[in-house]
Amino acid sequence: MASKFQAPRGTSDALPADAHARARVEGAAAAICARAGYEPIATPIFEDTELFERGVGRSTDIVRKEMFTFEDKGGRSVTLRPEGTAPICRAYLEHGMQKLAQPVKLFYAGPFFRHERPQAGRYRQFHQIGVEAIGTDSPLADAEVIGLLSDLLAELGVPGVELRLGSLGSPESRRDYLEELKDHLRANEGELSKEVRERIEINPLRAFDADDEGTRGVMRGAPTIVESLEGEDAEHFGEVRALLDAAGISYEIDPTLVRGLDYYTRTIFSFVCEGLGAQSEVGGGGRYDGLIEQLGGPPTPAIGWAAGIERILLALGEEEAGAGRDAFLAAADDEQRPRALALAGELRNAGLSAEVDLAGRGLKGQLKHADRIGARRVVILDADGGAQLRDMESGEQRPVDPANVLEELGE
Ligand code: ATP
Ligand code: MG
Repeated sequence: MASKFQAPRGTSDALPADAHARARVEGAAAAICARAGYEPIATPIFEDTELFERGVGRSTDIVRKEMFTFEDKGGRSVTLRPEGTAPICRAYLEHGMQKLAQPVKLFYAGPFFRHERPQAGRYRQFHQIGVEAIGTDSPLADAEVIGLLSDLLAELGVPGVELRLGSLGSPESRRDYLEELKDHLRANEGELSKEVRERIEINPLRAFDADDEGTRGVMRGAPTIVESLEGEDAEHFGEVRALLDAAGISYEIDPTLVRGLDYYTRTIFSFVCEGLGAQSEVGGGGRYDGLIEQLGGPPTPAIGWAAGIERILLALGEEEAGAGRDAFLAAADDEQRPRALALAGELRNAGLSAEVDLAGRGLKGQLKHADRIGARRVVILDADGGAQLRDMESGEQRPVDPANVLEELGE
């Protein structure tokens, strides 16, 4: 009988196949990042609402529409974290990490929450892996973090990945550019969607993201920020490009690239996978040189990215095969069950995967079950105190000394 309860809208259970797949992505990411010196960090699942309002930006979709915000019993407004960068910057300041050797290089993985309309690749609880390099404005850091995500997607075998690269400049050059962009939007106001028109003043960059034909037409003729970069911003962007070229990482300059968070400055990037349809971005990020100051800290340049585990798995489009078992310990009769369990324990302690029957199956049923769980060998514990080793692939079976099972399996 089906239960009347279901997982909440936009959430899902990771059953073993999915949980395995998720762990494999997280494990690969953690290993790649650890080899480059990015240390793991974990922050709380909820934070003060104001952290996100200030850190992510009040004009962003995330803060305006997507946060799971509630009051706790003490009357404080808290929010389930919609992203990882603001919390990590909060932790950086709270624990005085600016006193450590810079940059502080961090890796994280975990659940995030956004109240969005659920669809393929877009959920209310989803899982990200991400990195942050805090305390450096060197273009080397930009190229290094981009390289980490590029390496991860390559190692996982995500097909058809493209890297889009852009730059938002510094707040000053951006301000000049934004005025230019607003002029262009105002001059073509009649063709814009209502949403874009209403937000010309607060977030004109978002117009590049619009999908209505009218706005898109206007945006085709809009000035781009990449063309308007000057001085150190232009220099920084040029160096990042040269470093990516030298590392053999191909990219496409996308002058219309914007990100849904206010804190970005200079380099921004996005890894897309065309096979994913509307939710095509598997991961992205950029520089956020102003964020730590925005949160009350000293000026601290930083860069990072986040990637969606579910989107990576969708792009891979494969079911994770079970890992199988090294051995199954079958009992010829009920009296042999304690021997089987004890031997399974010995094998497990030696690092092998081993199972016994926990459901009272007869010997025939145990062999069938061993096959079902992908056991490579079955040790049958006979009634006379002896044992037999059966290779499940060849079907070959021979007597073995029960005291030597570990050695026999190790061959
Ligand atoms: P999108 O444009 O698809 O909404 P975003 O700009 O909001 O993405 P980020 O905030 O940069 O995305 O998050 C980084 C990554 O997290 C995305 O590239 C995506 O892979 C994943 N992601 C973001 N929102 C969701 C969601 N609601 N469900 C699943 N994955 C998500
Ligand atoms: Mg989004």
